[in-house]
Order: sequence, then C-alpha cells, then structure tokens
Amino acid sequence: MIDACSLEKTPLLTVADALQHIRASITAISDMETVRLENALGRVLATAIYSPINIPQQRNAAMDGYAFTSSDVSANQPFALTVSGTSWAGKPFSGELQAGQCVRIFTGAVLPDEADSVIMQEQVQCNGQQVHFSANCKIRQNVRAVGEDVAIGGLLCAATKKLSAVDLALLASAGIAEVSVFRKVRIAIVSTGDELIPLRQALASGQIYDSNRYLLMALLADPCYQVTDLGVLIDDKALISDSFTKSALQHDVLISTGGASVGEADYVKQILIECGEVNFWKLAIKPGKPLTFGKLGGCYFFGLPGNPVSAQVTFQQLVRPALQQLSGTMPTQPLRLTATCTSTLKKSAGRQEFQRGILTQTDSGELIVSSAGQQGSNILSALSLANCYIVLPSDNTGVAVGDTVIVEPFSSF
Ligand code: AMP
Ligand code: MG
Repeated sequence: MIDACSLEKTPLLTVADALQHIRASITAISDMETVRLENALGRVLATAIYSPINIPQQRNAAMDGYAFTSSDVSANQPFALTVSGTSWAGKPFSGELQAGQCVRIFTGAVLPDEADSVIMQEQVQCNGQQVHFSANCKIRQNVRAVGEDVAIGGLLCAATKKLSAVDLALLASAGIAEVSVFRKVRIAIVSTGDELIPLRQALASGQIYDSNRYLLMALLADPCYQVTDLGVLIDDKALISDSFTKSALQHDVLISTGGASVGEADYVKQILIECGEVNFWKLAIKPGKPLTFGKLGGCYFFGLPGNPVSAQVTFQQLVRPALQQLSGTMPTQPLRLTATCTSTLKKSAGRQEFQRGILTQTDSGELIVSSAGQQGSNILSALSLANCYIVLPSDNTGVAVGDTVIVEPFSSF
C-alpha cells in the first residue's frame, strides 16, 4: 500500500494502471452456499458442473413425421411403408418395427430401436395406413443422437461462471436442481455532504437532493450483491470515520460518494489514511479524477467523486470490475466499437475522457454517435439521454464532425 500523500505530486494514474492496482489487491470471496436452481440466476458457480446424464438420453425425432429403417428402402427410388403405430413425445412406440413398416412420430418422441430415419410429414403422402415417400427424400436424417447436446460426464458450466438464463435451462436439462455458488458480496453505500438531503423533504437554500445513492443502488442491482444503504452522512470527520469503521466490520465493500476531493470538508482520504490503507488518489480520467481506493480492515473501500456523472464513470470503469472479481467471476471487458462522430467535441490533452454520447445505426449499418449534450460532471440530464461513452484517449485534443471515435455502449438499466 502507498501513502496517499506521496501520490499527490506524482503523475495522474491511468484507468488501466488503477485497475491493475485494484485487481492485485482483491481476493475473491471463497465462501460457498447452495441455492436452488430457480434462485441461481446471476450467481457465480463455485464448482464446475458435469452432466450426470446424456442429453438427450435416447435417440429421438427432430421433426414431426414418419420413422423407419433406412436399410428397408432403396435409395433414390420412391417407396411406401405401412404405419404400425405412433411414438409420441413422452409415450414411445412399444412395438418392434418390421420390414416395410414405419411409425408415426412427433418431435422429441423416442425412435424405435430399429429406426434411423425420420421424414417430415410435409414431404410424404398418406393413403390410409400407407405412407408414400418420394425418390429424393433424405434418409438417416432428423434423428437426434444420444448425448448430442452434452454427453454424460461432459462439462455443463465451468466454475466461476456467472449463471445466465440459458445456463439455468442447460442445468435443468441435466436434472441439476441445486448449485453451489459463492456467497453474495456484502456492499454498503453511503453519500457524504452537508448539502445533501433525502427525497420527500423540501429543499432549503444550498441543499440538493442526494441522487448518487439511487444511482449506485441501481448500478448494484445484481443477484451477486447484497446492498446496505447507509444513507447520507454530513461532512463531520468523526461521524464519517465512526460510520465507516463500523460498517467496514459488517461488509466486504464500502462505497462512498462525495468528500473524495481535497476541499476543506473532504475527509474521505484523511479517514482512510488514519483508519485504513489508501492505494491511490488521482486518476487521469474525466470525469472522475478524484478517487480513493483502499481498505478498512478487511473491507475494500471505494471513495467515488460526488458529482453523479463522475460517480457513474468511476463505478463502471473501476468498481464494477473489482466487484466482479470479488464475487468470484472473471471481470468483463466493456465492448468498445468505432463509430463516426456527428458532433464537434471539445477536449484538451492530458486525461482520458468518457464523454456522453448517443450511438445509433444508420439504415446502411454504419454506427454513428453524437454528443448527448452538456458534458459537465454534474449534468445528469445528458447522461440520462446517453447510451454510450465516447472514449477519447488522453492525447486527443478534440473531435471534428466525421472523425472516427471509440464508443463504449452501456445499458441504461
Ligand atoms: P464532493 O466530491 O463532495 O466535493 O462533491 C462534488 C459535487 O458533487 C458537489 O457539487 C456536490 O454537491 C455533488 N454531490 C456530492 N454528493 C452528491 C450526491 N450524493 N448526489 C448528488 N450530488 C452530489
Ligand atoms: Mg462534499
């Protein structure tokens, strides 16, 4: 750990370097719990799961049609077979298929042992119990093989996978009813600032509503996280210090917003120096320059800037990957694309910028991005209109209409 004071005159830290610091400091949660499959969406698998069965277990039809034995018929010639029974999904044909016979079969129904072909019903002509097949019908088709999806013992989901809707379906298809997952990350969030008041109160002079907690609670809506809302703390060093140290005992992560800068009432850094450990202080990004990352005992601490846009950018770029790592899964890399910019963007060299943009696709498929409006770190309205960041490298000195830029789409809920 580095003393924050020694960092103040050092060059600004890049996002990539900050992330590397954070990654190196984080130890993923290893405590496990068992949850029912229906409660496992978004949880992180603690152990790999292998299939206890072949999927499918038995050969079955991929189409509604007629099943028969291909060695009974001559290739490239029309033929006719007699229907000797029906195989329904869930109610297999129980007889034995004789030469010259076929079975009416439906999608998912088990094939008679002797059969190896299913011809779809649209390609045959029925005349009573006689079914006529054309010369060009393809034999040995439309049969799902045993274990063709997953063979017995095959990997269903690897450990550390964050379970998707499809993963739940895959596990269910193998009969897995419970899964072992890492326990939830316990996260506390708090806003600091004398000017902040909660909703449902009238604003007095100088006051603003606390918007960051609503932002963070929404950004933290993830089945892997158990979030405690610690409310608003006024800029009182003893009070903040007391609250931080107490909640650090009960949580894996504490995230505060505000008070992270170097103003008279900005106590976050000082408290971390006195009560914990501080990793770094100033980032080469805009918005979001001041950021504290440290530890209070065993609790990771993120002190995000107070301005809401800065809070979101620093959360998405630095906190989210850290939380993903802590939850036991691999941090995801945000998708970055190139797009043609249809706005002029102002920028000075020195910091990587995450300007707010609106990304759309033209009828011809070209990605175009325009500025979402005012770029101040307090401007929530433009952030609300935006669906992406226009990511400008630190040496960029502005964008002209028609320039190609990098965009990072983000989801708005
Ligand atoms: P600070 O980081 O405390 O210096 O705050 C920077 C700016 O963000 C100030 O304009 C604050 O009023 C504003 N701010 C701080 N916390 C919040 C919050 N929870 N919700 C909305 N704005 C905030
Ligand atoms: Mg403040």
